[in-house]
Amino acid sequence: MNAKKRHGSINQTLNSQIQQPKTSNQRQVSNNQHRAPNNQYPASSPRPFIIPIFIPHAGCPHHCIFCNQVSITGAKQKMATPAELRIQIREFLKYKRENRKPVQIAFFGGNFLGLKSEEIKSLLELAAEFVRDGQVDSIRCSTRPDTINERSLGLIMEYPVSTVELGVQSMNDHVLALAGRGHSATDTVHAVERLKEKHFSIGLQMMVGLPGDDDTGALTTAQRIADLGPDFVRIYPTLVVANSRLAEWYKSGDYAPLSLDEGVTLVKKIYLKFKKAGIDVIRMGLQASEDLEDRTTVLAGPHHPAFGHLVHSEIFLDMAISAIDPANAIKETLTIFVNARSISKMRGLNNSNIKSLKEQFHFQSITVLPDSALAVEELKVG
Ligand code: SF4
Repeated sequence: MNAKKRHGSINQTLNSQIQQPKTSNQRQVSNNQHRAPNNQYPASSPRPFIIPIFIPHAGCPHHCIFCNQVSITGAKQKMATPAELRIQIREFLKYKRENRKPVQIAFFGGNFLGLKSEEIKSLLELAAEFVRDGQVDSIRCSTRPDTINERSLGLIMEYPVSTVELGVQSMNDHVLALAGRGHSATDTVHAVERLKEKHFSIGLQMMVGLPGDDDTGALTTAQRIADLGPDFVRIYPTLVVANSRLAEWYKSGDYAPLSLDEGVTLVKKIYLKFKKAGIDVIRMGLQASEDLEDRTTVLAGPHHPAFGHLVHSEIFLDMAISAIDPANAIKETLTIFVNARSISKMRGLNNSNIKSLKEQFHFQSITVLPDSALAVEELKVG
């Protein structure tokens, strides 16, 4: 990525921009011990260990234009049987490390609360078995905003469900309509209000590059999501997936996806907005999978198996550019100090950041060294 394209005012440290999670986001302590009162994943917390159960397209009343969950998740259309799910969960648990907590069974890839009540109960009952025997801490599910109502929440509150993720995608009704979502931004606002009343931990997912959207629109969506005060967010670039309606629009020339550079730069700005609001961004870009790397699955769009890494690398490049003052720029060598965990982000994929800085400032050599005194999102130059 060309450094000349970059803009924005990012300092050498992001800490000054990152506030503590908002007190307004803190919840009353729930009767249900599984529903956390505070932001669930502050930066210093151990990472959760998620056991994903994919329910591709299950419970979907609509067919969103960008979606083909079977291609995205690699899961077969048919739901696994309870016996198969038990085996799947036990297999996953073998890979859990001590430092990963909480352990959650997560229902992804469909519209969980759009399933029939008996199906929801049967899946939650199965997952609850693992909570009861102490192997799993709680359950999370991913669902559409328009499935959140008193009845559906009453149903899941009988089980140790702690976290609900909503596929928000956009807070612009025109963009939502073009995407065939079948719900409005107001549905999302009401859903978040209801979930907060019941003290669920809330994750909101948004997309960039949707038809009818642009950078300003995506940043507005991010701001409205931040204003809702979720516990965490995920940011996904729109990809043209085979056998989706968007693939037809792409082939007919009615839709042009973001380039990888555009996607990374836009998601970077959104990431910084959420960090500034004290909201954790737990994923940027789709989870890498063999199916996604198959060129017959993703036809176009800003896909990269290390999309999040690219975003962080661009942030570090911006910070380095801001940190290099004219006195350093006339030297032949530059040393950049970062936390040991951030070295690869500073260097960029295939040393792209080092190459960019050399080109821009004409350094002969640039060395990146670890400095344990620095936080993971800080750097200094020498
Ligand atoms: S994006 Fe979600 S709601 Fe839309 S069709 Fe796919 S699984 Fe269903």
